[in-house]
Amino acid sequence: MRLGIMGGLGLIAAVAMVSGCDSPPDTARLADSKADAATKVKVSKAAKAKAAAAVKANELGQIPVLMFHRVIPKPTTTDDRTPKQFRADLERLVKEGYVPITAAEMVSGKIDIPAGKHPVVLTFDDSSPSQLTLNQMGVPQKDTAVEILLDVAAKNPGFRPAATFYVTRDMFGKSTPEEQAQMLLWLKNHNFEIGNHTRDHLNLRGLSHEKVEEQIGSIAKQVGTLSSVKPTTISLPYGNQPRKKQWAMRGKHFKHQGAFLAGYTPAQAPFSKSFDPAGIPRIKVMEKKGDCKQFCSHAWLDWLKNNPDMRYTSDGDPRTVAYPKYKAPYLRKSFLTWSLPY
Ligand SMILES: [Zn+2]
Repeated sequence: MRLGIMGGLGLIAAVAMVSGCDSPPDTARLADSKADAATKVKVSKAAKAKAAAAVKANELGQIPVLMFHRVIPKPTTTDDRTPKQFRADLERLVKEGYVPITAAEMVSGKIDIPAGKHPVVLTFDDSSPSQLTLNQMGVPQKDTAVEILLDVAAKNPGFRPAATFYVTRDMFGKSTPEEQAQMLLWLKNHNFEIGNHTRDHLNLRGLSHEKVEEQIGSIAKQVGTLSSVKPTTISLPYGNQPRKKQWAMRGKHFKHQGAFLAGYTPAQAPFSKSFDPAGIPRIKVMEKKGDCKQFCSHAWLDWLKNNPDMRYTSDGDPRTVAYPKYKAPYLRKSFLTWSLPY
């Protein structure tokens, strides 16, 4: 060893001497190339800012997180959508320049969609068979939510079939561990996110810390055993946070980056100071009638369309957070190195 090191050092010295012979401007050259690199960074940053301005990028803008439940032909509650309504919901998103991302991608700031497009998060609660039913070849049954989403995505290139499924012990109506594993593994293998919706769908408000831990931790363990997935986001049953909101974020068997509520506004961008990962609002999907005149999806999508300065628009580069300079005070400090004001 000792000999090897000595030999190595000798070699380095020899190389230094050789290159030292007639190349005195080495340091100057180095400084030059450093200055070049700095100029290049500046130029590319300026070019990026120009490109961001051209598409009116607004990565501190708001993101609609849509909340779906069942997709069934004969709705029995206002939470249900018919297959036809669900298809129309998706087609409207296509038309208005939205691209789906998962809840996990949103909360971790990995929003990788083309320039000028808007992210949307599609979430499905309660793991019902109307969302996913598979035949024995693993093909989704016609008119389930997943089948419709895949079909709309296939017909509209660029519309990613991304979504988040918040599961309870109902597990898409499957009772044996093998069948449950088939459902979860299918979702995992098709890049869908599996999230936590607690084991028994109890109202967490008012439960002891111990009970909250058990409700969230036991389903996390079950999902992990069946599919090796560790959920990183949760949707809270009835949108209710436990007495301390952090109880839903960290526990013995789980660690979440985001907890989603049930109502009733678009969500803040994860890069914004106004973003609270422990209480992210979602929007119920429904037409503008009754209670939904103002605070459900049809009304909010109208509003976002009419208020583009409030809506999240991507600059197409997931490594930057681009926004009009005027919004700078809202940038979260942890994203300062990503910032691209224009
Ligand atoms: Zn639910």
